[in-house]
Amino acid sequence: MESRQIIRDVEARVFRIPLEEPMQDARHGLQTYFELVTAEITCEGGQSGIGYSYTIGTGGHATRAMIDHDLAPMLVGRDADEIDTLYDEMQSRLHYVGRGGIASFAISAIDIALWDLRGRVRGLPLWKMAGGAGKTPLTYRGGVDLNYPLEKLVDSVGGYLDQGFTAIKIKVGKPDLAEDVARLRAVRERIGPSNKLMVDGNFGYDLERATAAARAFEPFDLVWFEEPMEPDDFAGYGLLAKATTVPLAMGENLHTEQEFRHAFAYSSLSFIQPDASNCGGVTGFLRVAKLAEAKNIPVCSHGMQELHVSLVPAVPNAGWLEVHAFQIDRYTHRPLVVENGRAVAPDEPGCGVNFDWDRLEAADAALRKAL
Ligand SMILES: [Mg+2]
Repeated sequence: MESRQIIRDVEARVFRIPLEEPMQDARHGLQTYFELVTAEITCEGGQSGIGYSYTIGTGGHATRAMIDHDLAPMLVGRDADEIDTLYDEMQSRLHYVGRGGIASFAISAIDIALWDLRGRVRGLPLWKMAGGAGKTPLTYRGGVDLNYPLEKLVDSVGGYLDQGFTAIKIKVGKPDLAEDVARLRAVRERIGPSNKLMVDGNFGYDLERATAAARAFEPFDLVWFEEPMEPDDFAGYGLLAKATTVPLAMGENLHTEQEFRHAFAYSSLSFIQPDASNCGGVTGFLRVAKLAEAKNIPVCSHGMQELHVSLVPAVPNAGWLEVHAFQIDRYTHRPLVVENGRAVAPDEPGCGVNFDWDRLEAADAALRKAL
């Protein structure tokens, strides 16, 4: 029998990570840095696991406080391998004050640490623990580029092709729909008819504008129109799906299992895009994947490609891995591997994400000085 892994300590930290250049989408304003919240779980026997979440610049310290004050005291003394039990207890404990939102980010960081620990103890990589169906997902490069002038947008897309990507996503949501259409036309021309193309509206539209936009985008052979409207307008998505032939996708802003259930029931989505950093970590992601499997919906991802590379291909209903613009590669010991346009999951035991703590500390210190 395997020995129990009794949790001795939980340590959370927050780092601010600068973006190489400012980025903008339809709703989140100009972003210059993101926050990385890490959680290290250490057991009595010395085994440890690292988990993390990230924010788009706000909420990192609240997430850390929730780990320190509300989750760590609950976890110390418990068996780290009882992940499902601990996951459900964390959800129950925070339900009243924080259902979704910050609570989901805190739980995600802890859950990922528990899976990392399990993998290290058992000698198994995440993609095998998560189902083992595969390790090389369909992969696309997602730009955060609504602020780019047309020429720069087209150049950036060409750069992604040069890096070996064969599927690309751009932002939409300009005040004037004609400008979005012109940008889309230029990008489609640049990438040609065979490469795949997606667009992301970051909930910048209401139903009327989203319908007009979707219809205007129909000639560009899109894989999907992502998050055109507010993520909890579940019925609105259902209406939009009836009004256009463009497939719909969302999920990065759904944080609870119940929200995903609503999306599957009412939103007529063609793809679901959970983010393990905010929907409950590996456990939350896999529960969503299971729900999606029953509906025959492919599971994609949002952000955090260094972790999702092991989750997306592992399930039978694997969809697309997003390679997000928030690049963590220079702060980990394994930059994302992409071969023939597809990312490759790591084979090392655990989640396969090992941070360069010195680099994280240096980046955070430099940014704090500059702000
Ligand atoms: Mg998105």
